[in-house]
Amino acid sequence: MHINIAPHSPCQRQRRSAGFQPASVARASSPCDATQSRPLELSSHSRTRRGILSFGIYLGFGILGFGIFSPTPAHAASLYPGNRAPLISRPYIDLPLGSIKPRGWLLEMLNRQRTGATSQMDTLYPAVMGPRNGWLGGDGDQWERGPYWIDGLLPLAYILDDESLKAKARPWIEWMLASQRPDGFFGPAKDYKNQPGLQRDNSADWWPRMVALKILQQYYSATNDPRVIPFLTKYFQYQLKTLPTAPLGKWTFWATYRVGDNIQVVYWLYNITGDAFLLDLADLLYKQGYDYTNAFLKGDLLSGVGAMAGPPADPASHCVNIAQGMKEPIIYYQRHPEQKYLDSVRRALADIRRYQATPQGMYGADEALHGNNPTQGSELCSAVELMFSLESMMAITGDAAFADHLERIAFNALPAQITDDFMAKQYFQQANQVMVTRHVRNFNCNYDGTDIVFGTLSGYPCCFSNMHQGWPKFTQNLWFATPDAGLAALVYSPSEVTAKVADGRRVKITEDTCYPMDDKIKFTVQILDAPQRPLVFPLRLRIPDWCQTPAITINGQPLTGCTTPDIPTNAFIVELGRPWKTGDTVELTLPMQVAITTAWYDNSVAVERGPLVYALRLTENWTEKKVPPAEVPRYGESYREVTTPDKWNYGLLATTIQTPATQFKVTIDPAKQKQNFFWNVENAPIQIKTRAREIPTWLLYNETAGPLPRSLWGGNPGEDKTKIPSETEITLIPYGCTTLRISEFPVVQ
Ligand SMILES: [Zn+2]
Repeated sequence: MHINIAPHSPCQRQRRSAGFQPASVARASSPCDATQSRPLELSSHSRTRRGILSFGIYLGFGILGFGIFSPTPAHAASLYPGNRAPLISRPYIDLPLGSIKPRGWLLEMLNRQRTGATSQMDTLYPAVMGPRNGWLGGDGDQWERGPYWIDGLLPLAYILDDESLKAKARPWIEWMLASQRPDGFFGPAKDYKNQPGLQRDNSADWWPRMVALKILQQYYSATNDPRVIPFLTKYFQYQLKTLPTAPLGKWTFWATYRVGDNIQVVYWLYNITGDAFLLDLADLLYKQGYDYTNAFLKGDLLSGVGAMAGPPADPASHCVNIAQGMKEPIIYYQRHPEQKYLDSVRRALADIRRYQATPQGMYGADEALHGNNPTQGSELCSAVELMFSLESMMAITGDAAFADHLERIAFNALPAQITDDFMAKQYFQQANQVMVTRHVRNFNCNYDGTDIVFGTLSGYPCCFSNMHQGWPKFTQNLWFATPDAGLAALVYSPSEVTAKVADGRRVKITEDTCYPMDDKIKFTVQILDAPQRPLVFPLRLRIPDWCQTPAITINGQPLTGCTTPDIPTNAFIVELGRPWKTGDTVELTLPMQVAITTAWYDNSVAVERGPLVYALRLTENWTEKKVPPAEVPRYGESYREVTTPDKWNYGLLATTIQTPATQFKVTIDPAKQKQNFFWNVENAPIQIKTRAREIPTWLLYNETAGPLPRSLWGGNPGEDKTKIPSETEITLIPYGCTTLRISEFPVVQ
């Protein structure tokens, strides 16, 4: 057996390239904390220099270790098509859609989508998703919403291997393929008069086609339908010929800001066909697109607030554009492997963390960037799009920090913003959300106060159309092939993968776990072809940044020379190479400790443990409300409000947050941990109890938690010492289990 652990130093965390994880005032114990330098603790000047240095060092290890970040094309033999020269070699290669199946709680999430809205959009939202849709040849909606739905429905159908879901997606695929004109153009091409609730103009816009490209890429991955490759080739020839006179921004500005999605599919096709014109097209697309690289690297785009309605309107500050645009420099980096593209994304994530972020992995942007006040909104579309960007970015760069961030959104923001039955969603969620009611709040976009209630068409209907891609694509990105004919698990959830490894024989690896509600992950190997002969291949596992003391056993035996503390804390990827045989098991333990993260809005703090953020548990009273008849076409039949009789205005104690290991008591309910659905208050398997103090002056304002009292670490100036409430015990549960919550707490003395 050989074991490679890369990088090799015991204090690698400062090499992280794109950390969202903030400074932490206290962890239970970490040999590395003393030397840790995180971007947010540095001045902006040295932060940038640190970023370059960090990548430089990691680059060195990459070359020695795996070829990750190799600046020169290196294309090892792989059983699955990776990048073709001159694109850089990718450390992680997509497996065909359908190779990765969810199990346990993740299967339950996909099943809830199957019985919930994802299978029913044509009847829940018939005006747009019904037969009148332009992407089915009708005179109804001609723009993004139909493709949005299929971009989630199609991967769900093939991951679950569900014939009725495939049958729902098929007419859309067939119409798309049949719609191609001799010149290569495809999709709706005729504008219609405005009709309330429908987007019927700008039918020729480049933007909705970018969503269609993602659909066709996934469809080909699942089916190898031979029509797809010549179809895409012809469309990309059309783009190359037409863009000089009909540029990305000709119809609407969206294509200019989301062109990374287009370039991604162009490179994917290039890897299949090797057609050189595709590289020219990618360059042209990048040139016509918004320059995120320089905006992130040199500009102040992410340090202020934006406006969608102007003056002047600023599409670059739009939350979904940023979520999608985040990957654009790294997509392009594959062809032009210059350090600036990596640095720009690192800088962008650091700036977001500093100026816009909330603990659940998102940022205040309702819809324009709106700062890090935890009562600003975060749009559901931006959560699923940022997840997709992080999935793409981690596979191209091998940077495990993107995987950490992906888990942060998937396990915190995403389950909280969609109802348990997958039938309704919030357009915006708030990190501190104490009252989900129809009311006009201080958001950049307001839709008659329906912005945070749970509904179908409440707020703006993009999210109801686009939310379906979140869990299926997350599932598809749990596992990757590697260029040396091995496998890698980059994010963790119960699943199984079937793939060719080593000499081309198939192996199935089952991943049993209650993660993120548990710290143990068990992998079981089954060789499917000629199982009597062992298979030698590398299995790579990510060690999350937050984990101080990871441990691995193989067939029950602690890994020799690799157990704590010999597994370097803060290592990112562990490589296990050995002759694997059927029945072999690997148990990865990622102990989770309570950590208090700081420098959130107005000096507030958040409580984290492993990949989960913890929030104040509140009683939730759900009420169904009817939408007045005149508004039904706009906002749907009904929506759900959520209120609480409980107090929520607590501050954490300055004394206890210094020693979270002793002052925050963690209780785990093993029965709840093993259940298939734990994403609500009553099913939450983990509780953290701690002492807190009510802040009487922190009151409800405008049906929102009022201004967050600024945490002053030296005392509570202005406080009437005769009226300080006594300490009380509060209970925190995982953010993803809450609908009402406080997740950014003031600190009180
Ligand atoms: Zn949306």
